[in-house]
Amino acid sequence: MNIVIFGAPGSGKGTQSEKLIEHYGLHHISTGEVLRSHIAKGTELGKVADSFISKGMLIPDDLMIAVLEDIFKNDPSKLEKGVIFDGFPRTVPQAEALSKLLDGYNTEIHAVVGLEVAEEELIRRMIERGKQSGRSDDNIDTIKKRLEVYRSQTEPLKDYYCKKGSYHAVNGNGSVEEIFGHIGKTLEPFK
Ligand code: ATP
Ligand code: MG
Repeated sequence: MNIVIFGAPGSGKGTQSEKLIEHYGLHHISTGEVLRSHIAKGTELGKVADSFISKGMLIPDDLMIAVLEDIFKNDPSKLEKGVIFDGFPRTVPQAEALSKLLDGYNTEIHAVVGLEVAEEELIRRMIERGKQSGRSDDNIDTIKKRLEVYRSQTEPLKDYYCKKGSYHAVNGNGSVEEIFGHIGKTLEPFK
């Protein structure tokens, strides 16, 4: 089972992915984490990524798609157990590239789980996280920019996956356990 965990910044994609790994034994690919680890190591990719992330902007599609392709070239066995895609795709061209890429490995996205959370709550969570995370993008100005980028570039994917019949909205408000309960019910038919 390959899943996309979808939602605005601060919607809890990373948190719920951790629980999904525990329960379903899936591989987790978080493009945000991949980029942050490059930034921490000071690689060339990290330098480029940092220049976009700290401004609340998306990394350009062609670069991001190349990074994802590399992950599977280096370890195609990830697809045997199934993958949770967290933070990818974030644009329609990324979704099209992902579908092509998976097709090349004779698989596909089985479900898109969309965490739906009110905007005030998103902002509250990211500000809270910023106190601990040290992330250059968890401050109010960058958060506002990220939400704007989400609305204009990422949210259209909801329609894209609805049309394919694979989008499943999940109420992303409430406790981590409650939300995970909703996700479990949503994924029941795909197990
Ligand atoms: P959440 O809090 O729900 O886990 P998030 O939006 O806070 O999500 P990440 O998914 O970790 O955080 O992404 C952080 C930043 O990394 C993004 O704002 C963007 O600049 C960059 N990034 C991550 N994935 C992509 C992608 N698929 N395409 C372009 N840029 C990306
Ligand atoms: Mg994240």
